[in-house]
Amino acid sequence: MVRFMNVRKTYGDFVVLDNLNLDVAPSELVTVIGPSGSGKTTVLRMLMTLEKINGGVIYVDGKPLTHMPKNGVLVPADAKYLRKARSSIGMCFQHFNLFPHMTALQNCMEGPVQVLGLSRQDARGRAEELLSLVGMIDKKDQHPARLSGGQQQRVAIARALAMRPKVMLFDEVTSALDPEVIGEVTNVIKDLVPKHKLTMLMVTHQMGFARDISDRICFFYAGKIEEQNSPDELFTNPQSKRTQQFLSAVK
Ligand code: ATP
Repeated sequence: MVRFMNVRKTYGDFVVLDNLNLDVAPSELVTVIGPSGSGKTTVLRMLMTLEKINGGVIYVDGKPLTHMPKNGVLVPADAKYLRKARSSIGMCFQHFNLFPHMTALQNCMEGPVQVLGLSRQDARGRAEELLSLVGMIDKKDQHPARLSGGQQQRVAIARALAMRPKVMLFDEVTSALDPEVIGEVTNVIKDLVPKHKLTMLMVTHQMGFARDISDRICFFYAGKIEEQNSPDELFTNPQSKRTQQFLSAVK
């Protein structure tokens, strides 16, 4: 569903990601872990087309995301192509970025009405269904300022899902939350796995959560995949010295 092919990302002379090759299969949940600055968030931002890549190609659902076909060759995508291509991807950030002047329900209806062209009635039906899924239907008429961090994050997840993405990205969605509400957000994400069969790529510092729900864990070090494996294998039997050091430091 997602393929990074020889992807390179630099800022000036600084190489953030070098020759990245990563495949995420349909309905697979892959979690990226690694030390600060190893390039985890950059991977998600490139997939969200928030960052230009300096080499290689990213594909989503078999189609190039970063490039468009022209006269039989792939050329860097223009703004119009990117806008369309990125509509298949949903992202939730550490800071929820809800529209502050809209209620939870309006937040979840805005994209489907404005971008997908759904009628308000259809968008409302879909939004209510998703707010129920994340346990927020009782608060649908509240504005974000009246919601806790965990509740805002759950609305943000519903809002992203309302766009019917093929791929969902979660970037440290529990990092800004108080410890006692982290569970309510991780439980919602855990629930999505069997219910929606979504393809997901996640960055988290919550190792227990990553181990619980991921199909595969990729350990990044200095812009490269140092090691990848099933959660049980990677956490109990890490092969590389760097993975071993990282895991013993975060335990
Ligand atoms: P963390 O766990 O701290 O969030 P990360 O693994 O997600 O880290 P990235 O945010 O992907 O790391 O950043 C990777 C590297 O790229 C870092 O060294 C960072 O300083 C650098 N970087 C990120 N954005 C920019 C930018 N806009 N300009 C220059 N360097 C950048």
